[in-house]
Parts: sequence; C-alpha cells; structure tokens
Amino acid sequence: MEIKENVPLAPLTTLGVGGNARFFVRAESIHDVEAAVAFSREKGLALFVLGGGSNVVVSDRGWNGLVLQIGIPGIDEHATGQFNVGAGVNWDTFVAHAVSRNYSGIECLSGIPGSVGGTPVQNVGAYGQEVSQTITSLLAFDLAANRAREFSAGECGFSYRTSIFNTSQRGRYVILRVSYGLEPGGKAQLQYADLRKYFAGHDPTPTLAEVRDAVRTIRAGKGMLITPGDPDSRSAGSFFKNPVLAGAAHEELLRRAAERQLQVPSYPALAQQHKISAAWLLENSGFKKGYALGHAGISTRHALALINRDGATTAEILALKEEIQARVQQTWGIHLEPEPVFVGF
Ligand SMILES: Cc1cc2nc3c(=O)[nH]c(=O)nc-3n(C[C@H](O)[C@H](O)[C@H](O)COP(=O)(O)OP(=O)(O)OC[C@H]3O[C@@H](n4cnc5c(N)ncnc54)[C@H](O)[C@@H]3O)c2cc1C
Repeated sequence: MEIKENVPLAPLTTLGVGGNARFFVRAESIHDVEAAVAFSREKGLALFVLGGGSNVVVSDRGWNGLVLQIGIPGIDEHATGQFNVGAGVNWDTFVAHAVSRNYSGIECLSGIPGSVGGTPVQNVGAYGQEVSQTITSLLAFDLAANRAREFSAGECGFSYRTSIFNTSQRGRYVILRVSYGLEPGGKAQLQYADLRKYFAGHDPTPTLAEVRDAVRTIRAGKGMLITPGDPDSRSAGSFFKNPVLAGAAHEELLRRAAERQLQVPSYPALAQQHKISAAWLLENSGFKKGYALGHAGISTRHALALINRDGATTAEILALKEEIQARVQQTWGIHLEPEPVFVGF
C-alpha cells in the first residue's frame, strides 16, 4: 500500500473539479483499510473515503487530510443468488456480471457509475429499482470502535437517497463488502414509464440483457451514462434531490402553480406525501437545458445534471448551484437539496 502526497482529485471524480488530496491511498484489502486508518490517526489527519467519485464535489482547495480510495475487489457468487461483492468493484461491472448469469434485481440500475461500496450510502436507485430492495447485509469498518462489523439491511436505515451512512452515522463507517440477494432466472422488472415506452409495441417480456441494454441506451440519450467525449456526462449525476412535500408545503406549491396556470407533476411517495420533480421546478423557474454560467452549465439533455463544460472550477459549479437554488426558492418557495457530497468545504 503506497501513501502518496498532493494527489489531484479532479481526475478521480466524474465532475472533474477540485484540488488535491494532501495524502492519498488506495486500499485493496481490509488490512489496507486498517493500515490507512492507523496512519490517519498517527498523523492526526481527517479521513475521507472515496469510491468511484461519481457523487462528490471536491472543493478547489482539495482535502487537507487523507483520502482513502476503496479498491477492494471480488465478486463471490452463490447459486442461491447471494452475491458478496468487494466495495471497490465497479458497480456496472457487477450489474453486467449478474445479468450475464441471469440473476434479476439490479438490471434497471445498469449504467450507474461508481463503486459497489457507494451504492448503500445513498441507496442508489433508478428506473424503478433501488439497492435497498436487494442488499441483504454489508460489512463495514467502524472508525469509532476501530473494528469491522456486519450490518443487516434493516440496520442500514434505507430511504429515498438516504441510509444511516449519509445521515446519522455519516463519516463513521468504511464499507468493505456488500451482499445482495438476487433472483436466479428472475424476470426483468418494467415498472418505469420510460422503460415501458421503450418496449411498447414489441417484446412484452424482454430478457434481463435486453432491459440492461435499454436502460443504458436511455441513459446515454440523456447524457447520464459516462461516455468519453460527451460533455453532458461530465457531471455528478442529478445535482438535486426530488423534494418530498406534505400538507401545507404541497398546497402552497399547487397554489403557486395554479397562479401560473401550470400542472405540477407529482408522484405519491409515502402516505400523505408527494415527490415533486426537481427538474420540473428548475425548468419552471426559468432555467433551460444547456444554460451556461462561466465554465459550468446545465446538461443539454438533462435538466438536473450540472456539468463541467470544460475546465470549470468548483467555485463556478457552486455559483450555478446557488443561482438555481435561489431562483427555485423565490419562484416556488422550495429549497432544493443537493444530492452529491461536498468534500473539503
Ligand atoms: C452520470 C451519472 C449518473 C448517475 N445516475 C445515478 C442514478 O441513476 N441513481 C443514483 O442513485 N445515483 C446516480 N448517480 C450518482 C452516483 O453514481 C451514485 O451515488 C454512486 O453510488 C456513487 O458511488 P461512488 O463509488 O462513485 O461514490 P463517491 O462519489 O466516491 O462517494 C460518494 C459518497 O459515498 C461515500 N462512499 C463511497 N464509497 C464508500 C465506502 N466504501 N465506504 C463508505 N463510504 C463510501 C463517500 O465518502 C461519499 O460520501 C449518477 C452519477 C453520475 C455521474
């Protein structure tokens, strides 16, 4: 395990902005993680755990501590559909593997960038599936107790784009391995409108491989598949969460929409709550796809993706974020909460 100094973080992220890590190490095993944690303690360095860098915004000043990148490999497969996967495995590589072996449960999550270890953190989801439906347990290193411990799925506290790992216990655990229970010979799920539309008129029962291809094609069309040379994919994915409103807040939104003679698209979330499309709020606050502010911008194909148009600084991305938040707040009375993790601020 090699500890490096002054390592640029921008190339290790999909957004491609931000400064250096004062110290950097890539851990390929649990032993490496323990050694890196010991090093950070000895030197009194703040620790940041990095996966695939697809959901982070690194400050222009970088991280004045140790960045620990998780590279733990290995896909351990059981005929029952139980998969124990190293946190450093590329997520889409694992999805491709499961689909090729005809296990269902994660096919709609094809094409999401990042690592396996990153998926439980924000309960990754897309096209009608989220990992909380298939994660059975995980192994994590507890930085407070200085030992590894197992979590059942129930203990992870999964909800929409959240778990204990990005809320109550944020920064406490390093995820080492994640176990998923998939369905052998399972049928593909077609719950999501975009996916149903894709298959409408031809095959009503597509294979898992066909669903995977469809999801990747739909994603590529929206610039939501990392594609070298496609500036719309130089992003951290959706930059804002879809707000979930209840009671008075929801009524206020409907009132403001009625004033403008607009119909709010809303999807029931939990009982008495409504998940509102953040993209709709943004586009109805005067922002258009392709909007540019310096070197930062909104993707030309996805209203929620803020992109590094070329050579952007983090300050430029943040200026755009703030402009959007302020205008949506002013127009709709709603605070848009960012989805990515801010590092080194
Ligand atoms: C083009 C694009 C499309 C996307 N589409 C989607 C989508 O459809 N749905 C969706 O939910 N997300 C989406 N995302 C967001 C992102 O891909 C996911 O959140 C992904 O799971 C992040 O994983 P990562 O390994 O890249 O994490 P990183 O970006 O490296 O880190 C994100 C957070 O997780 C923590 N973390 C990462 N690994 C570990 C670990 N092993 N142990 C402890 N903490 C860890 C980090 O400390 C940080 O707080 C998209 C992103 C992009 C760029």
